[in-house]
Amino acid sequence: MRRIIVQKFGGTSVADTEKIKNVAKTVIKEKNNGNDVVVVVSAMGHTTDYLVKMAKDISKLPSGREMDMLLSTGEGVSIALLAMAIQAEGYDAVSFNAMQVGILTENIHTKARIIKIETEKLKKNLNEGKIIVVAGFQGVTEAGEITTLGRGGSDTSAVALAAALNAERCDIYTDVEGVYTTDPRVVKNASRLSEISYEEMLELAHAGANVLHPRSVETAKLNHVPLRVRSSFKTDDLGTLILGVEKMEIDRPVTGVAADLSQTRIVVCDVPDIPGQAANIFTKLAKDNISVDMIIQSYARKVSNTNDIAFTVDSADTDKTVATLNSLKDTLKCGEIQVDREIAKVSIVGAGMIDRPGIASAMFDVLARLQVNIKMISTSEIKISCLVNKEDAEKAVKALHEEFGLSCDIVADVKGDLPNV
Ligand code: ADP
Ligand code: ASP
Ligand code: MG
Repeated sequence: MRRIIVQKFGGTSVADTEKIKNVAKTVIKEKNNGNDVVVVVSAMGHTTDYLVKMAKDISKLPSGREMDMLLSTGEGVSIALLAMAIQAEGYDAVSFNAMQVGILTENIHTKARIIKIETEKLKKNLNEGKIIVVAGFQGVTEAGEITTLGRGGSDTSAVALAAALNAERCDIYTDVEGVYTTDPRVVKNASRLSEISYEEMLELAHAGANVLHPRSVETAKLNHVPLRVRSSFKTDDLGTLILGVEKMEIDRPVTGVAADLSQTRIVVCDVPDIPGQAANIFTKLAKDNISVDMIIQSYARKVSNTNDIAFTVDSADTDKTVATLNSLKDTLKCGEIQVDREIAKVSIVGAGMIDRPGIASAMFDVLARLQVNIKMISTSEIKISCLVNKEDAEKAVKALHEEFGLSCDIVADVKGDLPNV
């Protein structure tokens, strides 16, 4: 039986027609290795950012349905151009959007999860010898409505396709040469990791390392899909392999450092200290499909018998969150709602920190030396995150990277101007 390889190329990799022709060559090389190839592509360059900007110019709170109608157009352009580029090299190729494939998602706009992928049509076309080019990032509901998977979601489309097709592996081609100990755009001498566990990669991705969409790592782990991150521009290099932790020996307490600059802190002030208040807030937010990250509730103040409930959300959900909280004000009988957009979450991640005391204090020490104020703290078994002022994020990342001995002598090769997401 022929092996199926799923390849995914991000925005920078298909930023112009020359780059698309190069991608076609990488795809054909895999086909010539005797494999069946399914390629997933993102929108060209900064197309999605541009589409979002146009929507925001028109409306502060555009409807999710129309956002998805708009955003899904970006990938429609790149699939057709890549299929043409492959055909121009004399190979048979066909492009499909999510509706044509049958990438079925939940009925949630702008961050839908994939439920199921139809494979019959894909297998039929592969059996006919065709290279298949699929639009990343988009899906379709049972009722035929277009959805998108959230920014950076093409990675998840690729891994989900690899899982559905029982592919040999999924290769994520991007503008850096793999997963590094931190963003190599921020720390020039970040070290490239030859391998990293699914668990650590998942934490890093959630912490803001946007080299992989968090749900792509989750999907790979769940379905045992071997996943590689590699360079679109140095295709012989194998990049970074993401694999199960049991295969690795952990000799370092911290594997990576990340910053998430796209969070907003919301504080609901003076909430009367009675049962059910947190449930009221977070149930309503969940109903409105707003994901909450860090949460802190202060001690109840003795005189007023109230406390403050602070939490963070994705910046894109800020206006929606404030609208939701305003609709709850009478129920909660709370005070003002404060919004702080100038924050960043800085995290250290490492499976090696389990049972190794002193890692959190070392992190706080570094921030103290830099005079960086910590606004919130959250931890998991293998991650410590601190919320800080946005302007302090870069120096914090650099200092933490140095403190935990992650730098190397080589300067990372980074292509493209700004990241797509
Ligand atoms: P693509 O368009 O290929 O999906 P992205 O911009 O989404 O690419 O992701 C690649 C970018 O992720 C890199 O250019 C890099 O700046 C950023 N990045 C952040 N953290 C890391 C990390 N730990 N390792 C590698 N890249 C990282
Ligand atoms: N084009 C989408 C975005 O920019 C999806 C992706 O690139 O993965 O978010
Ligand atoms: Mg990406």
